[in-house]
Amino acid sequence: MSEPAEVPALTLQRVERSYKQGETSLDILRGVDLTLWAGQSVALIAPSGAGKSTLLHMAGLLEKPDGGEVFIGDAPTSHMDDGQRTAIRRLEIGFIYQFHQLLPEFTAVENVMLPQMIRGLSRNEARKRASELLEFLGLGHRLNHRPAELSGGEQQRVATARAVANGPRVLLADEPTGNLDPKTADHVFGVLTKLVRASGLAALVATHNMELAARMDRRVSLRDGKLVELD
Ligand code: ADP
Ligand code: MG
Repeated sequence: MSEPAEVPALTLQRVERSYKQGETSLDILRGVDLTLWAGQSVALIAPSGAGKSTLLHMAGLLEKPDGGEVFIGDAPTSHMDDGQRTAIRRLEIGFIYQFHQLLPEFTAVENVMLPQMIRGLSRNEARKRASELLEFLGLGHRLNHRPAELSGGEQQRVATARAVANGPRVLLADEPTGNLDPKTADHVFGVLTKLVRASGLAALVATHNMELAARMDRRVSLRDGKLVELD
């Protein structure tokens, strides 16, 4: 995509989101502003219930905000229909969840091939890129293992490869190492940040781990439904 470098990868402008709770309404996001640049990794650190997952769902076009706008590159998305949003999500946005959500009956390399084949790449092209990505993430010797035959850290590295398989502009991760022991979490985070720098994508990572957050380029939090910069 040829766009001037000054266009952020992701922009949230006064994003609002409320959930109805019986008679009352829970205002979770009350005007979130965020600019995320290519090649930048940002940690989102906030207590449970603050709205981290809600924010990631808005940023990833999985849910629509009640107010405000989400831009992917310079494209506003609120007016788009579900088909357009799905197409953008498929090509421009990668997700990593706390639990890997890999397909159990497929091997590591097949799990990374699938999103590429859905996009229309041939089996061979998809296999080549999937193998290269997994090798980059230190899993060259695990290509043909099924998820159940992989450790937790290896599963999350495969999930990372799958998230970036289509070369997205934005990587969104929701507590991706929340389920791992500290040493494994450290390693997974290391390869994730290495990947962000090498590929020039923009990453927003929700985490509780301050030590890992300290290794990212920038740290933000949610206070009273608004985004604040930390440090
Ligand atoms: P976090 O990821 O920071 O723990 P969430 O974004 O998951 O926080 O949730 C923020 C708040 O919004 C919580 O109080 C949660 O109960 C509420 N919430 C999230 N999703 C829904 C929903 N679909 N319906 C009602 N309330 C929700
Ligand atoms: Mg959450």
